[in-house]
Amino acid sequence: MTGIGDSIRIRNFYSALLKRYGPQDWWPAETRLECATGAILTQNTSWRNVEKAIETLRENLMLSAEKLRSASHERLAVLIRPCGYHNLKAKRLKNFIDFLFAGYGGEMENMLAEDTGKLRKELLSVNGIGEETADSILLYALGKPVFVVDNYSRRILGRHRLIPEGASYAEIQELFVQNLPADTEVFGEYHALIVKTGKLHCAKTPRCEGCPLEHDPHDSGINPI
Ligand code: SF4
Repeated sequence: MTGIGDSIRIRNFYSALLKRYGPQDWWPAETRLECATGAILTQNTSWRNVEKAIETLRENLMLSAEKLRSASHERLAVLIRPCGYHNLKAKRLKNFIDFLFAGYGGEMENMLAEDTGKLRKELLSVNGIGEETADSILLYALGKPVFVVDNYSRRILGRHRLIPEGASYAEIQELFVQNLPADTEVFGEYHALIVKTGKLHCAKTPRCEGCPLEHDPHDSGINPI
């Protein structure tokens, strides 16, 4: 349970980041499936590399569940090579597609009516889909009000002493959920704004000067996360 001061800070962070950077309009994808594909491919790599892989899939008319299902592992791995760990990610993408056909007839639209908690559990049971990926799919591909936690949120909240060292994914997520309206748009923007701040300012070595959060109390020492 957070104190009123922390609640205000969580909300103030959002206002400050939005004021500085404006809406980020995430997720950059044309379809729910493309969004889910990007969420799987972006693990441990930069978004620029994911864009190259998605573009290659698009050029090869592979951005449909049916095409992804019928492609061989080898072909898929070659097509997504730019995003790194291509063999592993091809396997993960295939696992997700198998799940989509097994439970939802190969259509992400069929997931929309499902209970969010049940969907989350199902996604987490797919080999290679962890909490951040599952929540990204729920929030950005399916429009469910689920907050996505990543290393930037962990680092920023840690440096601002809003979470203890070693806080779990669930604890960090709860901090946001408890203190914000359960609103898909707010959750989506907030996560995107955190990523932007992390990239521009809150790197391993923080650049606090000029950061939208520089006036909130924080540690500016190097944090290895
Ligand atoms: S760069 Fe500094 S002020 Fe900005 S979020 Fe990180 S610790 Fe806070």
